[in-house]
Amino acid sequence: MKIAIIGAGMAGLACADALRASGHSISLYDKSRGAGGRMSSRRMDTPLGQVTLDHGAQYFTARDPGFRKLVSIWEQNGIAAPWPLAGYGTWVGVPAMSAIIKAMAAAHDVTWNCHVGGISRRNNEWRLFTGTGNIGPFDAVILAIPAEQAATLLSLHDFALARVALTARSQSCWTTMFVFEQSLGAVPSVIRNAGVIAWAARNNAKPERASAEAWVVQASADWSQVNFDSAPAKVSEELLFALSLAHKSDIPQPVAVASHRWSYALSAGTGDGSLWNQEIALGVCGDWLLGPRVECAWLSGQMMAQHLV
Ligand SMILES: Cc1cc2nc3c(=O)[nH]c(=O)nc-3n(C[C@H](O)[C@H](O)[C@H](O)COP(=O)(O)OP(=O)(O)OC[C@H]3O[C@@H](n4cnc5c(N)ncnc54)[C@H](O)[C@@H]3O)c2cc1C
Repeated sequence: MKIAIIGAGMAGLACADALRASGHSISLYDKSRGAGGRMSSRRMDTPLGQVTLDHGAQYFTARDPGFRKLVSIWEQNGIAAPWPLAGYGTWVGVPAMSAIIKAMAAAHDVTWNCHVGGISRRNNEWRLFTGTGNIGPFDAVILAIPAEQAATLLSLHDFALARVALTARSQSCWTTMFVFEQSLGAVPSVIRNAGVIAWAARNNAKPERASAEAWVVQASADWSQVNFDSAPAKVSEELLFALSLAHKSDIPQPVAVASHRWSYALSAGTGDGSLWNQEIALGVCGDWLLGPRVECAWLSGQMMAQHLV
């Protein structure tokens, strides 16, 4: 079959890997400029030079045997390494989290900068509507995008699938990245659940990162919701203050700051794994069908592929 996958994050690429292995022809389309999805890393220009920080997923686990096997291949290929500071059996991409998605995407035909605004089906053929025209035909379409975005595309074709997506609401997450001229000293490199902070980590404490003192601070879901419409500068200021409270010490002004709001960061997971409408050859996968983790996204993509294999 000729299959279009919308979304080239972990779920879409895991699905593409499995489908191509069984002989299908796969094309992926992603609205972002580059590879990463919610595992992306961001390059910041600072007076100390360019610094790359993980600003989505901070680490991942590998409990499923199939996923564990793949992670050990990534380790052999030099794109993943253990990061025990985050806990037992935790991994990160190296030299940045996005390295994993970049490597997976390199094995496929991915069109970046391609926002799919609609899908249509006529005479058993699918077409995608994008800003630059229609793409197709395809025998099947798979949506590998967050629930809220999937619901919009699903609603005209399968209301039952759209309804599942509508029930899987995601929490937002304000994330601020700070680069400091000097080390903050002997403070813990990982902070969990401290006031408004859900997670904060010293990015340069991860393996194979540049040495500049760089921190990623992620606000709690409640705080992110209440401050959803705040200006990034205000968020940066408040999260810097929260970081100094968590460290119980004054911290210097950073030399570079960037805040990013993830509108659809984490969804509890519906438990469905993946969804497939055989009659119209329309499927959906993503972390939100299992749980808010990289490993769940991979499993969901693999489960989606099983419907067609
Ligand atoms: C702040 C934050 C912290 C996290 N921390 C962790 C953690 O520590 N450990 C962990 O395991 N997980 C963590 N996660 C969750 C993890 O990142 C996700 O579970 C996983 O990356 C989801 O993969 P996915 O493929 O389902 O979705 P995504 O990675 O979101 O991929 C979807 C892709 O679809 C594209 N897209 C969306 N709509 C369209 C459209 N209309 N047309 C074209 N393309 C489109 C997007 O650009 C994106 O690339 C975190 C997530 C966030 C945001």
